[in-house]
Amino acid sequence: MDLFQPFLALRYNIFMPIQLLSEEVASQIAAGEVVERPSSAVKELIENSLDAGADQITILIREAGKRLIEVVDNGDGIPAEELNLAVHRHATSKLKYAADLFRVSTLGFRGEALASIGSVSHLTLLSRVQKEDKGASIRVEGGDIKPASLLGIPPGTTVRVEHLFYNVPARLKFLKTDRTEKRHINDIVSRYGLANPGVRLKLYQDDDLVFQTSGSGDQREVIAAVYGVETARQMIGVLSEDNILRVDGFISPPGLTRSNRREILFFVNQRPVQDPALTKALTQAYHTLLMKGRYPIAVLFLKLSPEKVDVNVHPTKAEVRFEDKGEVFRSIGRAVRRALLAHTPVSEVGNLGGVKLWGGPAPDHRDVRRVIDPAWELAKDTRDEGVFGAPIESGQLPAAMGTPILRLIGQVALTYLIAEGPDGLYLIDQHAAHERILFEKFISLRDNKPPSQVLLESIVVEFSPSSADLVNEQLELLCEIGFDLEAFGPGAFVIRAVPALLQGTSPEGILRAAVEDLEENETPLERNIEEKIIARVCKRAAVKAGQILSPEESRKLLLDLEACQSPRTCPHGRPTMIHLSVDLLERKFGRTGPM
Ligand code: ADP
Ligand code: MG
Repeated sequence: MDLFQPFLALRYNIFMPIQLLSEEVASQIAAGEVVERPSSAVKELIENSLDAGADQITILIREAGKRLIEVVDNGDGIPAEELNLAVHRHATSKLKYAADLFRVSTLGFRGEALASIGSVSHLTLLSRVQKEDKGASIRVEGGDIKPASLLGIPPGTTVRVEHLFYNVPARLKFLKTDRTEKRHINDIVSRYGLANPGVRLKLYQDDDLVFQTSGSGDQREVIAAVYGVETARQMIGVLSEDNILRVDGFISPPGLTRSNRREILFFVNQRPVQDPALTKALTQAYHTLLMKGRYPIAVLFLKLSPEKVDVNVHPTKAEVRFEDKGEVFRSIGRAVRRALLAHTPVSEVGNLGGVKLWGGPAPDHRDVRRVIDPAWELAKDTRDEGVFGAPIESGQLPAAMGTPILRLIGQVALTYLIAEGPDGLYLIDQHAAHERILFEKFISLRDNKPPSQVLLESIVVEFSPSSADLVNEQLELLCEIGFDLEAFGPGAFVIRAVPALLQGTSPEGILRAAVEDLEENETPLERNIEEKIIARVCKRAAVKAGQILSPEESRKLLLDLEACQSPRTCPHGRPTMIHLSVDLLERKFGRTGPM
């Protein structure tokens, strides 16, 4: 069956009368909206299981869902005589009247999912309601329903989706790599896990148990399963309620951040939603506590009366519409700020300089500094501007101009080195410069594996299932650049050695940095991956702005920078130095020429 046949016919035969699309074609069109990729099918099936009151759901995936998606639950089941209906479009047991739409409390209600999935896969439904002693099954192939047969199975429902998109090659072609599709599935399952701590979830990918929750009802336990025990331990609880909204969940302290928004999760009445405005309400509440480009981790549940939110604005219900958006956002902001204020920052300040006064891991140094050092604020604000209001761009420093020989004068704002060079004054960003130095050292050592530094005590780092996937995939590469790293149970890795160049930096921080970068690029070019990881790792390991450097350290930095092949930019392309030529100084002081 060719999905586009009817449209082609319309173009070529103007006498074709208007007719209703066949059920089959209509379903395939709808399937395009509901089932975009394997993870969307997983989402719909989990929602159905939750709607059926299941408290145990097992998900089996093969070949990133293209070969098999099977969801087994212990919910209410579907009566044998209704199995046929369940796979019909607009057949639902959850909604009867249009008015019900405005107080939907189940996750599904459109009656579209099974019909849509059935039209683009080989779908088998097996189900038994609790009170019957036999169950029944039906099979749908490309929209054709095979008659039901009775059989002995445990109570609950199993939905088996095989050969997804077998009849929609275009869809198959647009799927990303298996790794990416698996990651989407992992993300979806962990999201529903977070929203339903009382449900025992298990996810298998090609026979490996990659994620599971106990169903104990403990939210923090699920957070630990998704983000690792250490992250879960640090997360701050949020709980507040006003007459509009109840907000509860967990947010990270300011020292625990990520380089992207992927770990900010919102749920509206238990439904995962993606709304940039909600994310903004959250990050704004952190205000000055976050560095530019850093984001918190958050798992926040918003509860409000179903009449105040419209969930029927999106085919997969990923977006919602609030009756009073502004109120909702203000509520979130208040709840988050209150939680952050109640969380005393003392322990983090105690951690500064690597001296742990209060136990726990050292937080991300850069984030904390904002809280305590006004000089940093000042330094940052002038970072991108020229001095004395004159825009001085790195463009004035063509890379072709050789490496200047620099004489150290001092350090300013704990961030910039001041040096005298062959033609005037140089301001050097100590962080960017060190990044460049480390990067070039790495690259020059690349062909004969950079030396490793064995750790006195090996360190176990935990990742979410999808990040763990990435680490596994790049394990060889990470070892090539000097890590000694090994899988250590589901989602965990043990670090035994780090690249010697990075001595003195938190091994966990370095590894996380490398992974964060991979996550941002769904399909990075293989040949670039290594340099990307190295650049990211160097960024993490480089001396930070705000760090006091002794004159010896500063001089060493300048010498090392002089030895670089491309000393004028950091590996990410930012300038390492600003040059104020003698000529410019003279003009500024009105000694020569026009101002
Ligand atoms: P919707 O969830 O929007 O109602 P679906 O196509 O997803 O539409 O499902 C159709 C119907 O099949 C549901 O309304 C429900 O009655 C039944 N059903 C589907 N999956 C399950 C399940 N896992 N357990 C019990 N009933 C189910
Ligand atoms: Mg459904």
